[in-house]
Amino acid sequence: MKIAFFNTKQYDQEYFDRANQNAAQQIRYFSSHLNLESTSLITDEKVVCAFINDNLNAEVLHKLKSKGIELIALRSAGFNHVDVACAKQLSLPVVRVPAYSPFAVAEHAVGLLLCLNRGIHRAHNRIREGDFSLRNLMGFDIHGKTVGIIGTGKIGQAFANIMLGFGCKVIAYDVVHNEQCIKSGVTYVSLDNLLSHADVISLHCPLTPETYHLINQEALAKMRDGVTIINTSRGKLVDTKAIINSLKNGKVGLLGLDVYEEEEALFFEDFSKKGIQDDVLARLTTFPNVIITSHQGFFTQEAMLNIAQTTLSNISQFEQNGSIQNGVI
Ligand code: NAD
Repeated sequence: MKIAFFNTKQYDQEYFDRANQNAAQQIRYFSSHLNLESTSLITDEKVVCAFINDNLNAEVLHKLKSKGIELIALRSAGFNHVDVACAKQLSLPVVRVPAYSPFAVAEHAVGLLLCLNRGIHRAHNRIREGDFSLRNLMGFDIHGKTVGIIGTGKIGQAFANIMLGFGCKVIAYDVVHNEQCIKSGVTYVSLDNLLSHADVISLHCPLTPETYHLINQEALAKMRDGVTIINTSRGKLVDTKAIINSLKNGKVGLLGLDVYEEEEALFFEDFSKKGIQDDVLARLTTFPNVIITSHQGFFTQEAMLNIAQTTLSNISQFEQNGSIQNGVI
């Protein structure tokens, strides 16, 4: 099938070309994000391949349908950037990659926690300047701490297993209880109980109307003083302005973010010459106890290959018999 591949980075092309070695699919790579304007790049393609920071709102979906697009293949697990109700109404199937490497994201969350706790990022910079002091580098043993996980699906479960291996007490909140997690030693509690008892809180639930700003001023007030918060899930789970206030007054001791509320226009691009235009994000970057990475949790060799293979397999299935593999609708 002919595929219009939007928002291409060099690594996307490398992994998709590798997975498409037999050239079964004809891919045209565009660097532009998918939006109303860039739909003009589509000529006779039948499939659109998009990423998390592409815009698949109703207007774009109608345009894609009118251009003869038959399938939307997301190369991501999350699909909160798609107007699913509109796609359904248009009978425009949307497929995704539901699981590629839960370990990639879980390990990144652990990386943020370890780095923040022991100030590894600060020590690295300091030593390059010839400063070998231990000033402000004291951390805490993670062993024995209470770790609260919100969302114990594939990634939350992988994160729980690592934290159990560290010797932590792991408590969790999820609308569905994961039997494997319970067997491994995770205890399910209410959200309020988790917020008030956890030393470390890690977010692994999807962004939905229910989880939007799950971590807001009210939730933050319930937490332990000096709590560590890690968000590798979706930026809009956290009210950024509320968390900035909690960093200022010390309620939040450490904050690790792989995602940010307004990341769409920023992440994956290089603004090093222009500087950060987003004042809220700029303020966040001034805290020594905050680490931000630009949505790189998924970015491992294994995950990239898996994403490419599953996306192409989703497309091949559709091509062969119109079947929808890994559909979101
Ligand atoms: P999953 O579907 O396997 O698990 C999600 C879990 O969240 C499920 O157990 C579900 O019951 C739970 N959940 C749903 N609504 C909830 C609510 N209101 N409160 C508490 N829990 C709720 O998904 P996954 O593969 O583990 O991925 C989790 C999230 O990680 C994704 O939704 C995505 O936002 C994010 N993600 C980030 C990256 C990255 O690169 N940083 C990569 C992939 C996924």
